[in-house]
This record gives sequence, C-alpha cells and structure tokens, in this order.
Amino acid sequence: MREKWRTWAVGALSFFAAVAAPGGEKDPRARLLEVLDQRREAFAQVAREIWGFAEVGYQEEKSSALLQSQLKAAGFDVRSGVAGIPTAFVASWGEGRPVVALLAEFDALPGLSQAAVPERKPVVEGAPGHGCGHHLLGTASVAAAIAVKEWLAGPGTLRVLGTPAEEGGAGKVYMLREGVFDGVDAALAWHPADHNGANNGTTLANISAKFRFHGVAAHAAAAPDQGRSALDGVEAMDVMVNMMREHVPESARIHYVITAGGKAPNVVPDFAEVYYVARHADMTILDGIWDRIVSAARGAALGTGTTVDHEVVSAVYNMLPNEHLAALEQKNLEQAGGVVYSPEEQAFAERLRASLADTSAPLGSQEKVRPLEAAAGKASTDLGDVSWRVPTAELSAATWVPGTPAHSWQAVACGGTGIGTKGMMVAARALASSAADLFSDPSLVAAARAEFEARRGSHPYASRLAGRKPPLDYRKD
Ligand SMILES: [Zn+2]
Repeated sequence: MREKWRTWAVGALSFFAAVAAPGGEKDPRARLLEVLDQRREAFAQVAREIWGFAEVGYQEEKSSALLQSQLKAAGFDVRSGVAGIPTAFVASWGEGRPVVALLAEFDALPGLSQAAVPERKPVVEGAPGHGCGHHLLGTASVAAAIAVKEWLAGPGTLRVLGTPAEEGGAGKVYMLREGVFDGVDAALAWHPADHNGANNGTTLANISAKFRFHGVAAHAAAAPDQGRSALDGVEAMDVMVNMMREHVPESARIHYVITAGGKAPNVVPDFAEVYYVARHADMTILDGIWDRIVSAARGAALGTGTTVDHEVVSAVYNMLPNEHLAALEQKNLEQAGGVVYSPEEQAFAERLRASLADTSAPLGSQEKVRPLEAAAGKASTDLGDVSWRVPTAELSAATWVPGTPAHSWQAVACGGTGIGTKGMMVAARALASSAADLFSDPSLVAAARAEFEARRGSHPYASRLAGRKPPLDYRKD
C-alpha cells in the first residue's frame, strides 16, 4: 500500500493503471481520483487564497464566496446566506436518497498572522491567521464534492454545507436550528492535523457565558460605605467556583477571565464582568456543573450587595461517535495514503521542528495512517451538535509537520506551503471515496443510522443556545 501511494505521489498515470478494473475497464471510481488529481493545483491555489484572506468568524465574505464560486462553476445549485448568516451556504447536486453532506469550514483565528516560513514572522503584526487550517478544510470538502459529482450517476443528493465561525461562533448550531441539516443521512467531516487517522472518539461539550455584576460607585476612601463593588461580586464568584473544582468530576474543565474589573482603584467599581467556559464530555453532566456556576454567581451577588445577570455566549455538544462512518473514513484514508515531502518540504519541516515543544511524533510519521482510534478529545467543536442530529464522522489528515499544535503560528506556516495542500488532497481523496461508498451501498447508510439511534438513545438534542441569534459581530472589536 505504501508503494502504491508513492507511485501516485510521483505520477497519476501509473496510479490509475493500478486501480483499473480486472477486465481492463477503468474502475468508475478512478474518475473521482482523476478529477482530484487533474485539479490539485487549482484547489491548492483556492486554499492559498483563503489562507491569504484569513477572515475571522462570520466575516468570511471572500473565503465563502470563493468556495461558492468553485461549486457554482462545477454545476452545483448554491444557496448563500442561509440561516440568517451571510457567509453560510448550501450547495446541492442530484436528487433523492441518500443525502450525503460534506462540511466546509473557512474561518481564521485572531492574532496568528504568519508567513509561510519556518520561523516566527507575522505577515501583518496582530492580524488573523489560519492557525486551525480551515482554509484547507473548506477547500478539501469542496474538492471532494466536485469529484463525487463527476462520478455520481445514480440516485442520491450530494451537499456541501458551508459552515462559518467554527472557532467560538458555533455557526453549525444556528444552521441546525434553521433546518439546514434536515434530511441529511450522513455527514462527512475532516480536520487538519499533524497526523492521518479517523477518530471514533468524543470531544468536550462546552457552555460559555459572560456574568455581569452591577454595584454602586462611590469614592473608595471618602465614602466606601456608600458603595457596593461589582468587582467584589466577580471575585466572590470566582472563589466559590474555584472551591467547587474539588467537587466536580475530575474530567470537567472550568476556565475564566475577568473582562471588566473597574477603571481606577479609588472608585468603587459599579460594573464588573467575568467570562466563563465550562466543559465536560457529557452534556447532561455539564448541565449540572453549569447550574452550580450560575448559583455561585447569584450567591456572590447576594453576599456583596450587587446584582448579576448573565448571557450565554456559546454552547456546543460533545461528539456522538459513529463507528460505521469512522471505519469507512479510515478505510478510505488508508487507501489515500499519507503525505510524502519533497526535499524542500523536508528541509522546511526540519527547521520548523526546532521551534516545537513536543517532537515525540517523528518526522516521517505523516507518511503513515494511524489505526482507527476512539480518543477522548480535549477540545470542543460545533460539529458535536451536528453529530446529535445526523450520523457524523471526522478524519484527520497531516497538513502540519508532526508535532505542530493547532492554533499555533507553526500551523499557519505549514498551511501556506505544499505541506498543507498535500495533506488537504489526502483528505479530499478519503472524503470523496467515502461519499462514493455511501452512494453505492445503501446498507452503509442504514448501519450508520441504526448505530446513531442506538447511541443517542432517548436523549433528545436541544441546543443550549435556543432563542439566541447568531453572534455575527463576536469577532468585531
Ligand atoms: Zn479547527
């Protein structure tokens, strides 16, 4: 298999000979891979452009428009601005069941601007950068969809869902609420990483909110008895929550920052704000922890003579695994192979690794595919909500030099090079083949659905953001 991959990496022609059907006819599936191979430079260019746009959540106008234009040019029917979100879109092709969705993200992260070089070098100091590789994420899904469309002859509907603001904006949660995922039989997702492998594990559900305390301003020396400090409210809440840490499940995570604490020490602050995030791998356990955090806020207000209100800013579910879909993605990822660096990319990788804290994953490991794993992820994603409504799986492809953490300048740097786009094309091949398998074999779709029903059990999905509008300005200062 390794040899077959190398053959493909060197030249497409010999690879397609290798997948020819026994009778000498080319396997129709080869058409998928042919489209991807013929257009790999064009797709790499799309990814590089979005990398350069580096637009943050809900402001991805150019990135979203570029992906939509690729899909329109390929013949997809594209609806933009869905779910009241200007940069969200749905592209469709075909009719009937099954309905297979490929998910495309494209938002960047604030402050991570970085040139495509192996040393820290911002392009524009303080500007955003693609530290989570979402320029590759969106482009690979679009590329895979264009390839599948060329191949798809029978019944079935292919959709690309353009999902903005994954980084804290929970775009998918609002799209789910507005019915954008209705009728989807399976959702195939992927994420940039420093390795290749499908994951059948979980992520952490999270809830975040801003707690705003209101007090009474007064001269801190002349009339302190007239004042009630809003900052006291924040500090009292934080003390209580910090004590609470001992009495919640060990796997819970609670973090906060004080976002307003008064302006001058000689004025009793009449306003203070603390921004909390709590996480756990089980939403129902997290609900219980969250109720206690809210109680701590109320208790703090009572004890300090202040008042408090809070606004839930974001909330996403943990991932509901789907082993059938994960195993399908794994199989196709193993066929797609890994990422082999050119001599220049190898030199880039060696220099970049000098800046990494953890290099336990050896250089060269990006050429391999890890076995399917059920890792308990420590991050949170709005893909979790999707997985409670639609059977969903996610694979990782090595777009970053081994050892590169997400949300780092090193990830931005890799994403702007051939290292990033090679990993992107591995993902595109695995996604396209997985979608083709689902269209070819209805029993795969049925098995994924049955597993989904069994795992979900009697827990209904109910977003913790009900009634909230998409926070379209959450990245605006
Ligand atoms: Zn990400």
